[in-house]
Amino acid sequence: MRVAIVGGGIAGLAAAYELEKACSAGATVRYTLYESQPQLGGTLASEIVDGAVLERGPDSFITEKPAAAELCRELGLAHDLVPSNDTARKTWIVVKNQLVPLPDGLMFLVPTQLIPTASTRLFSLRTKLRMAVELLHPPRPAKGDESVAALIERHYGVEAVARLADPLLSGIYGGDAAALSAQTVLPRLVEMERKHGSLTRGMLAAHRAMHSRAKISSKTLERGAPIFTTLRRGMQQLVDALAARLDQGSIRTGTPVSVLVRTGEGWAVKTEKGERADDAVFGAVILALPAWAASGLLSPLDPVLGEELGAIPYSSSITVNLVYDEKQIGALPEGFGFLVPGSEGRALLACTFAHRKFLGRTPPGKAVLRAFLGGARNEGLLEEADTALIETVRRELGAILGAKTLDAKVAPEHARVTRWHRAMAQYAVGHKERVERIRERVAALPGLRLAGNAYDGIGIPDCIRLGRQAARGLAELTTSAQADAR
Ligand SMILES: Cc1cc2nc3c(=O)[nH]c(=O)nc-3n(C[C@H](O)[C@H](O)[C@H](O)COP(=O)(O)OP(=O)(O)OC[C@H]3O[C@@H](n4cnc5c(N)ncnc54)[C@H](O)[C@@H]3O)c2cc1C
Repeated sequence: MRVAIVGGGIAGLAAAYELEKACSAGATVRYTLYESQPQLGGTLASEIVDGAVLERGPDSFITEKPAAAELCRELGLAHDLVPSNDTARKTWIVVKNQLVPLPDGLMFLVPTQLIPTASTRLFSLRTKLRMAVELLHPPRPAKGDESVAALIERHYGVEAVARLADPLLSGIYGGDAAALSAQTVLPRLVEMERKHGSLTRGMLAAHRAMHSRAKISSKTLERGAPIFTTLRRGMQQLVDALAARLDQGSIRTGTPVSVLVRTGEGWAVKTEKGERADDAVFGAVILALPAWAASGLLSPLDPVLGEELGAIPYSSSITVNLVYDEKQIGALPEGFGFLVPGSEGRALLACTFAHRKFLGRTPPGKAVLRAFLGGARNEGLLEEADTALIETVRRELGAILGAKTLDAKVAPEHARVTRWHRAMAQYAVGHKERVERIRERVAALPGLRLAGNAYDGIGIPDCIRLGRQAARGLAELTTSAQADAR
């Protein structure tokens, strides 16, 4: 079978790699990977500037979801996996221009430790009392989906939404707690509310269960995996290692697919470059694209499917990497960086002290500050020039960290601005049902598979899992057809 993979981000690359493996294992499957940009990787893009790794897109993946680390090991990158420096982990929230640490014991937005919660400057007395009373919250059967903000507000009040849920979610999803789906983004909390009522009691019960499981398997939590993992030479290393495993003749970069047509035998792919028709008919197609791009290709074939895909919102974001000589700046606060709630009225959503989060990727004596801007509420920033964005970041960093730490007049040694247009899917209220409807319609189009960050997980491990799963399903079809023929 011939398979067209449209989109060469991490999901498309993972799909191609899986088909390459199936081929080596004897399946008669060939593929062509179409990517509109001149380079592969989608949002994964890093560069090394004077020895410092600068991540233009994602800086790491969450270790708890194994698909990314597993793939890195398969590709021979085990020695280049770098754990997050969790002993130095501390995250700050900006409250009225001051940095306030996230209290210890917070798990998925849920406070679980009395003393840090009672003594934090992050919340007012009223919110702290609310957090104590939350322990009495009665179980509540799920009544359909709702926003993350509605769920958190019901338990801990509006201030917990403004100072906790909002900055954490805009820092991760570039999203808005008032729009994101609780059922999809925080399914564990929805389940805990149904079972225990109180999220705090539910989280403590889950934590106890995890401890006893860890004891049984004689693993201590201290020896557990890091929260995040990255690669020594940047996330680009994963893209390059994947690309090196693929048949180079099967990769078409700089080749946007503009039309998909159902033919008697399968699918015809037309590109803006104008493929030769005999070279572009496939038995199956994996669309590893943002949902809005998949919508554009599928709408003429199934307008309802196109509409459902097009209704998945996306947010845009900007990263600004600044490299300083540590002698140029004062001592940064300890920890990995800070998050900025929308209520602060700033362009900055978050800033990571990248040289601290992952050790060994920045030369000694240098500091890399990675700012994150834009998000669902500030798309207009994408129109601004690089110089204006760098100036805004320097000004806001100076105001938040204090002029003694970072004088906005001190120029960084290097600055890199990267814009990501409509790159991050937003799992809005009702997302799960929408994806179910999408799956039903896709099932009616034989040979079509969807992968990517729009459906079942925004992070790199989920995109890898979905890409590989789509390809494996098609390879299995081929293998069973081969067996039937024998
Ligand atoms: C700034 C930023 C920071 C992030 N940080 C993290 C993080 O730290 N950890 C984490 O796990 N996740 C992070 N994410 C999320 C994660 O990076 C993405 O969800 C994931 O990389 C998406 O992969 P994908 O393959 O689904 O899509 P994409 O990377 O968007 O790839 C889709 C590809 O399809 C191509 N394409 C589009 N239309 C066509 C067409 N018509 N024909 C051919 N090709 C086409 C595009 O050019 C693109 O290369 C971050 C995202 C961003 C934007």
